Amino acid sequence: MSQAEDSSTRVGPASHPTASAPPRLLELSPQNLYDKCVALARNLWWSWHPEVTNLFRELDPIRWRQLDHNPIALLAEFTPERLEARAAELVLYSRINQAYRRLKEYMAAESTWSNVHAGVLGSKPVVYFSAEFGIHESVPIYSGGLGVLSGDHIKSASGLGIPLIAVGLFYKQGYFRQQLDIDGYQHEEYLQSRVENLPIEPALGADGKQVQVQIDTRSGSIQAIVWKLTVGRVDLYLLDSDVEGNKPEDRELTSRLYGGDTRVRIRQELVLGIGGVRAIRALGIVPGVYHLNEGHSVFATLEAVRGRMDRDGYSYDESVRRVARQTVFTTHTPVPAGHDRFDSGLIEEHLGPMRDALGISHDQLMGLGRVEPHNFNEPFCMTVLGLKLSRRANAVSALHGHVSRKMWSNLWPGRIEEEVPIGHITNGVHVPSWLSWQMLQLYDRIFPANWFRRMGEPDVWQKIHECDPGELWETHYALKNLLLQFVRRRLSRQCRRRGECDEAVELARTVLDPNTLTIGFARRFATYKRADLVLSDLDRLFALISNPDRPIQIIFAGKAHPADEPGKSLIRKIANLRHDNRMAGRIVFVEDYDINVCRHLIQGVDVWLNNPRRPLEASGTSGEKVVLNGGLNCSILDGWWAEAYDGRNGFAIGRGETHARDEITDQRDYDALYKVLETEVIPLFYERDADGLPREWIKMMMNSISSLAWRFSAHRMVMDYARACYVPAAGGVSCDMTNR
Ligand SMILES: *Cc1c(COP(=O)(O)O)cnc(C)c1O
Repeated sequence: MSQAEDSSTRVGPASHPTASAPPRLLELSPQNLYDKCVALARNLWWSWHPEVTNLFRELDPIRWRQLDHNPIALLAEFTPERLEARAAELVLYSRINQAYRRLKEYMAAESTWSNVHAGVLGSKPVVYFSAEFGIHESVPIYSGGLGVLSGDHIKSASGLGIPLIAVGLFYKQGYFRQQLDIDGYQHEEYLQSRVENLPIEPALGADGKQVQVQIDTRSGSIQAIVWKLTVGRVDLYLLDSDVEGNKPEDRELTSRLYGGDTRVRIRQELVLGIGGVRAIRALGIVPGVYHLNEGHSVFATLEAVRGRMDRDGYSYDESVRRVARQTVFTTHTPVPAGHDRFDSGLIEEHLGPMRDALGISHDQLMGLGRVEPHNFNEPFCMTVLGLKLSRRANAVSALHGHVSRKMWSNLWPGRIEEEVPIGHITNGVHVPSWLSWQMLQLYDRIFPANWFRRMGEPDVWQKIHECDPGELWETHYALKNLLLQFVRRRLSRQCRRRGECDEAVELARTVLDPNTLTIGFARRFATYKRADLVLSDLDRLFALISNPDRPIQIIFAGKAHPADEPGKSLIRKIANLRHDNRMAGRIVFVEDYDINVCRHLIQGVDVWLNNPRRPLEASGTSGEKVVLNGGLNCSILDGWWAEAYDGRNGFAIGRGETHARDEITDQRDYDALYKVLETEVIPLFYERDADGLPREWIKMMMNSISSLAWRFSAHRMVMDYARACYVPAAGGVSCDMTNR
């Protein structure tokens, strides 16, 4: 803690006395310049502003890359004097000043979307809970899609000016870093983050001390301290159980994401949910709305109920009603294993003291987490508690809404499926975070001047049709080349690390061809995502890859959960294709998929392939990131794509059929995948006009951008949450979501 308090006031090596230096204008003093850079680095606002990111990169491009694009770690290597010298050399003064001024203006802005449309939240902020937040690769407190979605949510909430406070866990080791051995087998490495290298600081209570909370269980208590991370106008509070006084195993509790068994899991969720609500209270924040993003945090509802009984003197029943009215719950997956379930013993051990305080019996408590309250064989399900203790619940795409209503219809025995009160708000992505700098320049030239503030409006994006097709194609081609450079650099580094011969390292620098149709496939290696569908028949794949006139190439990336052996063997199968002479250099696997790898891939591919077993992909968001940058989606009609595809804005694999037997579904989808590749995707890409441009392909890129970018943006998503959930939950005028 002392270490971090230190780092909140001083990031780099201490400045040297400047008494002997000649007098300067205050604006130009090295310390002043340094402080401005530190202020920029300490608000993650910088991460979605390319002009600020470029500033940091230019200070030292090589260290920037080596330090995972972490500006705090980078600045720690500079003294104010050296920074000043470097800034003078590169003429960065005015850019630093301007970036700093823009940050100040952003933080002070009063005319936001929220002030006009969600004023009621002003005095009643939303508290947004999530087990992970993916904001930038330098802050490793996320594992994948759920985390990136939470990160995008709070960035857009910041942009829209929504009074929102976020709560999560501080994972010192985060999620694992992936390395493949020479045999293609995945190994996991956990790196310890250093608090002083992260933009976090102790969250202080009224007494000026770092907030610390305690959660009692039947087997002792767990303590957690609270950190604060600043993401634009949103404060993100992170709980950390690495506190003196905790048992050694409890100190490790929050060190890794999804690392432990169910006992670790329930204790993490206790810290997040119950600890989170207590932390908010200790910080003096009175929530208007609780938004529980996925089931991990729903114990928060119990602590909120307890607070109501305690503070306002309401009965248990009345408190439950009031808390439910304030609570929004979002469910994220139809995959059964994705819903945490705990047995009765774990619940009694961890929530015994809570139910004593609530004045309810063990059976009553268990009933809150059961579809059939009196079925003693049923474990306690976090999703069930979330659905019971929230007045507003939603799925994350239209199709996922249907699936979720069916899945949980037994919770509302009197109702037909259509009337099950689970609506949907389709996931979207934070445009400034995922849009490449090159495409931003292009949009800036052809869109209205204030388009960035209006990116949730369809009219803005219609303008893409006025773009010169050659210019759009050139921009995409430049991005694709950047992707290929990135992949080659990564592959040669991978080879070198595995100790392969120089020849192999060199060869890795020459893989892939910029004129070849490039397909990207990157996601978690969960079996339902079927990474190997395209590999089902290697001869047929080889025919596509080796076609002399119209070849294809594929870039893969993704991690398998450490305990997922089938997922790991899938990775091995793909990675080892590099030993197959027919595929070498045309099918590659990039290690350690994270936000950085994802950003390169989605900005540079021609086609993004997505072939989950329908309807198991609740939404998916990576394909939405591709849209912004001019890539085309080729996907099963599942998740967001089921409502996005219109026949002219990308490619559909099949027509949304499913079969009760997986083998039959897989065979059909495989046939449909090759059919669309062979008869639509490949011919369209290689059909060129006299100027060498694929006119019809470019038209499809434009259709994709104009019809999808605004709809699947996080700004649109957060505005939907504000109107349909936050404002009514805070007691404002209701505006109903489907099925609510
Ligand atoms: C966007 C993103 C995801 C989510 O992608 P899906 O479409 O859900 O597979 C996962 N991981 C990272 C690192 C991302 O940036």
